[in-house]
Amino acid sequence: MSDAAPRDFIRQIIHEDLESGKHGEIVTRFPPEPNGYLHIGHVMSICLNFGVAAETRGRTFLRFDDTNPGKEDEEFVNAIEADVHWLGFDWEERLTHASDYFDALYAAAEQLIEKGLAYVDSLSADEIREYRGTLTEPGRNSPYRDRSVEDNLDLFRRMRAGEFADGEHVLRAKIDMASPNMNLRDPALYRIRHVSHQHTGDAWPIYPMYDFAHTMSDAFEAITHSLCTLEFEDHRPLYNWFLDVLEPEHRPRQIEFSRLNLAYTITSKRKLSALIDEGIVTGWDDPRMPTIAGMRRRGYPAAALRDFVARAGVTKKDKLIEMGMLENSVREVLGDPSPRRMAVLKPLKVVLTNYPEGQVEHMTAMNHPNNPDMGTRDVPFSRELWIEQDDFMEEAPRKFFRLKPGGEVRLRSAYIIRCDEVIKDAAGNVVELHCSYDPETKSGMPQSDRKVKGTIHWVSAEHAVDAEVRLYDRLFNEANPNAAEDYHSVLNPNSLEVVTAKLEPALAELPAGEAVQFERLGYFFPDSRDDAPDARVFNRIVTLRDSWAKLEKQALQGQS
Ligand code: ATP
Ligand code: MG
Repeated sequence: MSDAAPRDFIRQIIHEDLESGKHGEIVTRFPPEPNGYLHIGHVMSICLNFGVAAETRGRTFLRFDDTNPGKEDEEFVNAIEADVHWLGFDWEERLTHASDYFDALYAAAEQLIEKGLAYVDSLSADEIREYRGTLTEPGRNSPYRDRSVEDNLDLFRRMRAGEFADGEHVLRAKIDMASPNMNLRDPALYRIRHVSHQHTGDAWPIYPMYDFAHTMSDAFEAITHSLCTLEFEDHRPLYNWFLDVLEPEHRPRQIEFSRLNLAYTITSKRKLSALIDEGIVTGWDDPRMPTIAGMRRRGYPAAALRDFVARAGVTKKDKLIEMGMLENSVREVLGDPSPRRMAVLKPLKVVLTNYPEGQVEHMTAMNHPNNPDMGTRDVPFSRELWIEQDDFMEEAPRKFFRLKPGGEVRLRSAYIIRCDEVIKDAAGNVVELHCSYDPETKSGMPQSDRKVKGTIHWVSAEHAVDAEVRLYDRLFNEANPNAAEDYHSVLNPNSLEVVTAKLEPALAELPAGEAVQFERLGYFFPDSRDDAPDARVFNRIVTLRDSWAKLEKQALQGQS
């Protein structure tokens, strides 16, 4: 381990456990339920579990929590494995399932019965709920609570043999129906469910409950630190009860940390799944989704996600983290390696009236302003160009340093031009600008007296390549859509805008999987279209500056 102080309370505990010799090796697990795709919250859990093990030369299991048969899908299993790998982590041979332990769990349940610490209850589900009491009232003992060990063993074995219908009996731990902690009021350990399981088929008509299966799976895998989110804090006494009474060889320690909540999005698999079912997004990998698959497709680099969760930190405090922080990590990771190119998203035609018809010049543009090693490229220049509609204003304020009637602007890597005439259609919309260029101002020529304040990007109309560009924005207008009664009411109707952009020709040769900066506009990532595999498509990963920062700060302050 490094000499630096551990950067959070969990790493502090782990550091102490290694120093004191309590553990020779750290073993953790990431235990997803394969009922959806992984999201940004899971990224935090993955980076924490795999991270602390890697930092201490320990080991991490990827364990699928498949105790809920019929709810899980091979698609989700494959996606989870791909996502964890893409994030940069590897479980090696440690890929397990809760169902791998069904025999051992069953044996542990029989042990509990033999110790007089579990019983078969024959109340109905409704009655069990009624007997459970409330937060302010203690529960009542079930009339079946005092069955003999023999009766319990016999009934449990017959449950296992499939003799009973769903719901006829359940196996419960015998703890304390008056406990102030509801989790200790004789929690269920096994339910009867005649459902076939994706791994064990029809071998089991009974399935273990999560708390029991999770605790004991941790023990079977010799997990040293079982890291989970705060909502399991109230389950820790039950976790420890199982370990106290069953005394497995290995005793894991459960430690809770707060969930990562990202502003302007939701991180509940159920709600994300609803967005897909309702057609609000196109799928789990829609680039607006906070899923790993969506963020990858949008063009977020794995390093940016790792950086972001490291900055967010591991704490016990509930927090809603600004989206701007994630986007800053993305910008930071993309800044150095991404080549610069020119593209016009909302084109306005410029005709250089004094430029010779048919002439083409090849301007030399740097691929990265701060890194000459990335070289240069040729950008064709001709009489007709595209510029951004936003870069022209007819009634411009004094401080508008882009193009206005009679005004001058520099075209990046090319000439200074002046706007001489504004051409409009019948409805009064500006459709074309007639400009003149100054041949003495070519980029790179010594220039003393000619200074203009603005520089804009452009693409030669004759050489432009069309592309579909998707401009993504937040899915929600509310910082905390989870708090909204109905998230439909806080959806951002403009979370996706599709434009046909004009690209400089060098962009047609960009390799797949590599991000690029469109000068002045943001970072973009090549994508594809299912219905037109050859179409050129780019996703906007993130803008260059955080236009939401101010708004977001206000909103977050307002709600705290
Ligand atoms: P969801 O509510 O989206 O269904 P979950 O907690 O049920 O999420 P699991 O598949 O059970 O999803 O989660 C696997 C692991 O990831 C758990 O250890 C869980 O604590 C952790 N995890 C889930 N969401 C977050 C989050 N927002 N922040 C940090 N860790 C999380
Ligand atoms: Mg869960």
